[in-house]
Amino acid sequence: MSWQQKIDAALAARRSANALRRRTTVDQGTGRWLTFSGRRYLNFSSNDYLGLSQHPQVVRAWQQGAERYGVGSGGSGHVSGYTTAHRALEAALADWLGYARALLFISGFAANQALIAALMTKEDRIIADRLSHASLQEAASLNPASLRRFAHNDVGHLARLLDQPCPGRRLVVTEGVFSMDGDGAPLAEIARAARDGDAWLLVDDAHGIGVTGEQGRGSCWHQRVKPELLVVTFGKGFGVSGAAILCADDVAEYLLQFARHLIYSTSMPPAQAQALRASLAILRSAEGDERRAALAARVARFRAGVRRAGFAPTASHSAIQPLWVGDNLRALALAQALRDRGCWVTAIRPPTVPAGTARLRLTLTCSQRTEDIDRLLEALHDAGQ
Ligand SMILES: *Cc1c(COP(=O)(O)O)cnc(C)c1O
Repeated sequence: MSWQQKIDAALAARRSANALRRRTTVDQGTGRWLTFSGRRYLNFSSNDYLGLSQHPQVVRAWQQGAERYGVGSGGSGHVSGYTTAHRALEAALADWLGYARALLFISGFAANQALIAALMTKEDRIIADRLSHASLQEAASLNPASLRRFAHNDVGHLARLLDQPCPGRRLVVTEGVFSMDGDGAPLAEIARAARDGDAWLLVDDAHGIGVTGEQGRGSCWHQRVKPELLVVTFGKGFGVSGAAILCADDVAEYLLQFARHLIYSTSMPPAQAQALRASLAILRSAEGDERRAALAARVARFRAGVRRAGFAPTASHSAIQPLWVGDNLRALALAQALRDRGCWVTAIRPPTVPAGTARLRLTLTCSQRTEDIDRLLEALHDAGQ
């Protein structure tokens, strides 16, 4: 098969499964309204859960950072790209989350690749929740360490896998809030199983950080768990982008030697680090509490009405509300019917989710108003008919 034939065949297979992915060019994709092609829609697709991507203090911090430092960092943090802005953000994150150290990465995807690649060797074993994010699955499957997957949130299954002999060390991997299902992990039980199995625990809290727990400290803090490795990302609740790994002092020193995505990559712009520090200050403040309360109220209203709209309520109490559809074409048709009614919703299809579990992934944010939720429920009711 030639390169051309390979590419043609792969695209044809996606098309025939109604699984071809396309990007939509929107004019504005965060906030209460998503604007596309001159029309505005109520936005139920963004991960900017707390509306911080457009917060004046965050925007201003980025502008002032750019005026002070310029727009690029100019290099890897190991050369000249680690500024006082980066150091201040790392210190603030470590203080907020109760860790000795925080290390910044340009994305959550990069942080997960770097962490697993730097830690694991051939004789080691990764034991990951079956529904872990693509960035974790990718890192694990590319790694020479063996990979075992436990049934979603099944601590008994995890404990049995931890009982199996392994020549090296073991790393248990899970998430605070699952990105496609919106449910949380039983972190206290998972941490206990990991400890009993002499394993370390890695929790990726991309969707919990900023959004849950006291001062927005996330799923681990909320469940009084302190994993050896905590990954937080800044593209969701923080409203910006980037990520950090929280860990002990010697682990941070180790990663500074061996985390290749850190060493051989340009660090985030210092202005972005300034914006992130502004975002963190809001998350920790009374305003952060108000935004989290507004989001929780939207989630409660949606969940209370979803059955009347003709859909089964899910296990999710987070901002991510999946509506199970099953069939790819039906999921696409439903998303389109909702757009026709002014609500922008994304259909998620395999391979992002398991085969036969196509769904609508609705995200709720504090930028929405009560009447927006009611309009969504009405649209769901009509579109589902
Ligand atoms: C979004 C997400 C990531 C990737 O983070 P980016 O900063 O967007 O690269 C990693 N893990 C989980 C669970 C996510 O939801």
